[in-house]
Amino acid sequence: MSATKRVYLDHAATTPVRPEVMDAMLPVFQEQFGNPSSFYHRGQEAKRLLEDARQRIASCIQAQSHEIYFTSCGTESDNWAIKGVARALEKKGRHIITSKIEHHAVLHSCEALAAQGYDITYLDVDADGRVDPQAVRQAIRPDTILVTIMMANNEIGTIQPIAEIGSICREHKVTFHSDAVQAAGAIPIDVSTLPVDLLSFSGHKMYAPKGVGALYIRRGTRIATFMDGGAQERNRRGGTENVPYIVGFAKAFELAMAEMAENTQRLTALRDDLIEKVLQAVPHTRLNGHRTDRLPNNVNFSFEFIEGESILIMLDHFGFECSSGSACTSGSLDPSHVLLAIGLPHEKAHGSLRVTFGKSSDPEDIDRLVESLVKIVARLRDISPLYEAYLKETHG
Ligand code: PLP
Repeated sequence: MSATKRVYLDHAATTPVRPEVMDAMLPVFQEQFGNPSSFYHRGQEAKRLLEDARQRIASCIQAQSHEIYFTSCGTESDNWAIKGVARALEKKGRHIITSKIEHHAVLHSCEALAAQGYDITYLDVDADGRVDPQAVRQAIRPDTILVTIMMANNEIGTIQPIAEIGSICREHKVTFHSDAVQAAGAIPIDVSTLPVDLLSFSGHKMYAPKGVGALYIRRGTRIATFMDGGAQERNRRGGTENVPYIVGFAKAFELAMAEMAENTQRLTALRDDLIEKVLQAVPHTRLNGHRTDRLPNNVNFSFEFIEGESILIMLDHFGFECSSGSACTSGSLDPSHVLLAIGLPHEKAHGSLRVTFGKSSDPEDIDRLVESLVKIVARLRDISPLYEAYLKETHG
C-alpha cells in the first residue's frame, strides 16, 4: 500500500474553514477587535458586526434577529436548550421525551437531568432510524415539559419528520427542541412555518471555525439562563462575544443557503453513486439510514464479519479519511448507540463505515474508494473468524 492523494470524507465530523469565511473574519481579529460592550467607537463597531451577523443568521432560517443567541458550540446549544427549559419549567413537570439516536450532547444532558430526578423517555426508532410522530404523541403526559428530537442524524443521516413532531408538541403545548447541527445549511429550515421552539446550530459543520454555535429561541419560549455572567446576549448568556467567529459563522451560513440547491444536487449524486457501487461490489453489505430521506452528503454502511476500526485504518493507508459508526473509548470498542437502536446486532454495528462528502469531494474519487473498499473488505474477511464460520455453515 502506498500513500496516495489524501481524500477527506468526514465532513460530518468537521469541515475546513472556507476562504470567504477566513476573509470575513481576519479584519475582526486585528482591526475591529473591540469588545461589543465597550461604549467607544471600536466597541460599537464590534457591536454592529455582532448584530449584523445575528440578523444574517436569523434570515437564513426566517427567524427574528432577537431569537438568535450565540454560544460556543453545538454541544453548548443542546445543553442550554434542554437544561434551560427543564429548569424554567420544573414546577410544571419533570418529564422529557427524546430519542435513542440523539447526539451525546442531548443524551448526556438528559442523563444529567435524570440524575436530578427528571424522568426521560427514550423513543425507539424504526429500521431506517426514524422516530414515529405518533410515538411522540403517545409518550406525552401531563407533566411533559420538553420534546427534543434531532433534525438529521450525524451517523446515518436520516432526516426526522420534524414538522409532524412539532405539530403534535404544539397541540399539547409542549416545548419542542431540535438539534439541527447536521441539518443546518444542508436542508432548508424555515421557522416561520416549522413548529419548533428551539434549534441548535454549530459553525464548524458548515465551513466556519470550531468553537462557535447558536441557539434559536422562539420568542416567548420559557428557558433559564445557562451561563451566568455579564449582560451579553440579552442577559441570557454571559461571556464576551466571539465576534470574529460569529462573523465567520454568519458568512458560512449565508453561503450554505445560497449554494444549497447546487450542493444538494452534486452531493446527492456522489452519495447515490457510492451507495449503488458499494452495494453492488461488496457482498454482505447493508446501507444504514433511510435510502432517500437522508442528508445529501451522508453514506453509512455495515460490512458483515469485520471491524469498522480495521476498515478505517486500512482506508487511511489508501488515503481516505472516513469515520466509523462506533465510538472508541479508552481502548474499549463500544458499538454505536445509533446502529444498535436501528436494530443492528453488535457484530454488524461494529463493521460500520461513515462517508460524508463536502466541498472538496470529487466524483473521480468514488471509483478509487470503491476499489479500495473491495480490497480492504476482502482482506479483512480473509482473516475473520466470523466469516470463516459463516462459510463453513453455508458451504459445509
Ligand atoms: N449535535 C450533532 C448532531 C452533532 O453532529 C454534533 C457534532 O458532532 C454536535 C451536536 C456537537 O456540536 P459541537 O461539536 O459544535 O459541540
